Amino acid sequence: MIIKLENVNYIYNPNTPFEKKALDNISFGIEEGDFIGLIGHTGSGKSTLVQHLNGLMKPTSGKVIVDGIDINSSSANLKEIRQKVGLVFQYPEHQLFEETVYKDIAFGPKNLGLGEDEVHIRVKKAMELVELNFDYLKDRSPFELSGGQKRRVAIAGVLAMKPKVLILDEPTAGLDPRGRDEILGRLQTLYQEGITIILVSHSMEDIARLVDRIIVMHRGKMAMEDKTREIFKKAEKLEELGLGTPQITSFMRQYKIKGNQVEDAILTVEEAKDELINYLRRRGNA
Ligand code: ADP
Repeated sequence: MIIKLENVNYIYNPNTPFEKKALDNISFGIEEGDFIGLIGHTGSGKSTLVQHLNGLMKPTSGKVIVDGIDINSSSANLKEIRQKVGLVFQYPEHQLFEETVYKDIAFGPKNLGLGEDEVHIRVKKAMELVELNFDYLKDRSPFELSGGQKRRVAIAGVLAMKPKVLILDEPTAGLDPRGRDEILGRLQTLYQEGITIILVSHSMEDIARLVDRIIVMHRGKMAMEDKTREIFKKAEKLEELGLGTPQITSFMRQYKIKGNQVEDAILTVEEAKDELINYLRRRGNA
């Protein structure tokens, strides 16, 4: 198990009038190679939770164990934990600052004290992983690039640290459909490369399309946790938590309620297409 949380609580501003319990008794485990979706209404605790996963925040009580290391123990090397668990914040391109794409992506590995050759290999590989052309873009200013490209430079900077786990907080926010598809396509490839991914998103479409398992947060508590299809079968429960299902999932549900014998736990347009063709064939043969 690459990440394990045991009864984690986190309180902002304890013992003041502004005290706020943001995480309430959270326990779960993440296996290597998992692709997890973290969803929940604004204020449900998602950002607070992900910052615990790479040691940026420490629990008020409870345990966070990353790759066998308890982040609260005095011997825990937080730099090592942050290298193992890469966190891509919302709008990560706001943190680009170097004059070239190369220097920006090389910043983290250089800080690890790696030699020029290793830094070069890592920058090149990270750019390949996010499909940025190394020769064409390495000497360009990151500020001249498109929104989707800038964000991929920022993600490459995290990947160049060779993290075992990659956490992304709303990675497609504010991008046009093309930029969104670029990022989501890259996540799929990274997952196939074996990196463990945790995706925080408001887009149920993105979540349904990509992740294997979902954790639903509600008012600091873990309200649901299951395989993606199982979670989206529970439309009423999600609605109670202020969340929805992908449009195509609700469409198929409604279609079934109207008396059509279709499978309703459908997650993507492609699945819906196959199911509808099959259904119409079955009906035609009956
Ligand atoms: P989400 O990422 O799901 O929107 P957050 O983790 O940001 O949720 O917030 C969880 C709760 O903690 C919210 O009620 C929020 O108002 C509160 N909170 C977040 N950051 C702070 C802070 N720095 N000080 C006090 N309360 C905070």
